[in-house]
Amino acid sequence: PPRPSVVLYARGVEPRAFLVAGRPVHGEGELTVHHPYDGHPVGRTTYATPEQVEAAVAAAAGVAAEAAALPAHVRAAALDHVSRRLAERAEEIARLITAENGKPVKWARAEVTRAISTFRWAAEEARRLSGEMQRLDTDPTATGRIALVRRVPRGPVLGITPFNFPLNLVAHKVAPAVAVGAPIVVKPAPATPLSALLLGEILAETDLPEGMFSVLPLPNERAAALVADPRLPVVSFTGSGPVGTAIRRAAPEKHVTLELGGNAAAVICEDWNTDEDLTLAAHRIATFANYQAGQSCIAVQRVYVHEWLYDAFLPRLVAAVQELRTGDPTDDHTDVGPLISADAAARVEAWVDEAAVAGATIEVGGRRDGTTYPPTVLTGVPADARVNTEEVFGPVLVVTRVEHDRAAFAAVNDSVYGLQAGVFTHRLDVAFAAHRTLEVGGVIVGDVPAYRADQMPYGGVKGSGVGREGVRSAMDDYTEPRVLVLTGV
Ligand code: NAD
Repeated sequence: PPRPSVVLYARGVEPRAFLVAGRPVHGEGELTVHHPYDGHPVGRTTYATPEQVEAAVAAAAGVAAEAAALPAHVRAAALDHVSRRLAERAEEIARLITAENGKPVKWARAEVTRAISTFRWAAEEARRLSGEMQRLDTDPTATGRIALVRRVPRGPVLGITPFNFPLNLVAHKVAPAVAVGAPIVVKPAPATPLSALLLGEILAETDLPEGMFSVLPLPNERAAALVADPRLPVVSFTGSGPVGTAIRRAAPEKHVTLELGGNAAAVICEDWNTDEDLTLAAHRIATFANYQAGQSCIAVQRVYVHEWLYDAFLPRLVAAVQELRTGDPTDDHTDVGPLISADAAARVEAWVDEAAVAGATIEVGGRRDGTTYPPTVLTGVPADARVNTEEVFGPVLVVTRVEHDRAAFAAVNDSVYGLQAGVFTHRLDVAFAAHRTLEVGGVIVGDVPAYRADQMPYGGVKGSGVGREGVRSAMDDYTEPRVLVLTGV
């Protein structure tokens, strides 16, 4: 029989409404959401009709000037309201995330906690957003002139989000949009639309103009048409590389931010060598390779270990991985849940098997059970194996011995991706060398690459994307400077 904690969110047979210009509506067809762990239906919604999409986009364009003129205290109050309501409904939302995405409920709770702080932080930033004054009289021809630089919204935002953080990644687009006064149309992932719909419900409680928000469940091909719509001049996309590239090609004249995939690496440097050091790194890496079953763009995938430390580190890592509890994500004690689908788990299995055939050793894990793939550690992996070169997006670690720290940094850079890297070192000079050398959007010293705070700029280089998120960076992205030059002052 289905578990009550999951079934609760199917809410009988009633499909959930989605939001068109701030109003709850139903559309056409049926989008049933299944629990990735056992395939049980956990909720339903419908797809937006072409008329509803048109209404959403027209409303966003129509309300843009009004939204841009909203006072800071109104924008901040709305953001504070969303933050408060997420906090009040935290457990319900965490259970909903687990139901649709399959991540263990403890990680779903962490996701809600983060969304609460994202909206709170965006409220703070909304109060601070002001621009600057520049004196121009440093040049003799501009004596008596000053410039006021205000940041004004570029226009309505299209936010397209993936399945792996169904609430946070929507929050990362919605909160900065509200903070700057830009309307936003959200297109959530088809596998996990329910958390975005719930966030839409909460947004609809605010005093913001209705036309500012729409949350539209759409099949992929219809989302592509939205990307091309000139009334949505900003596109903020989080998802896979091929789709990101297609979006950029489809909208070359737009302001496009792409948060794409990665094969993030951690480096155990020569000086990270005490018992305590190695045990700490092993636990952090085991946890953050396997949280969300590895379905995070900055989950640790590659680990480079200084050769002097390799033999001491590997057994600690394997032991830490073996401690993780894999299973039912609704159980409070589960560390690793299922992947999003059987296809995703089968792909991971195929890549690991391929590496094993090419000579890799499976130190632990490696046997799929439906949608669940166990935390797996591989050694002796050929450099060109897909588990090394591509984004696994599953609970798989590739551990490689390197001669020295510089060789590790070169190996980190030997990737088509560059999102974040973790460098386990105590030495400031090594930290700076890593920061100088590594081709990534962020270097995390003393921890795994999976660390992210929503205040900091976050994003990638190379195949990992274009532009930065994080509340402040996204606000910069959604706005452009407009200068007012005053003469005779
Ligand atoms: P995906 O690219 O398949 O889908 C992402 C979104 O794009 C979905 O909403 C999907 O419906 C939509 N989409 C698909 N085709 C489209 C098209 N032609 N036009 C417009 N929209 C389209 O990604 P996914 O499988 O849901 O998510 C996993 C990927 O997301 C991984 O590669 C992961 O690394 C990446 N990701 C990146 C970050 C980051 O911040 N860099 C964060 C989370 C996930």
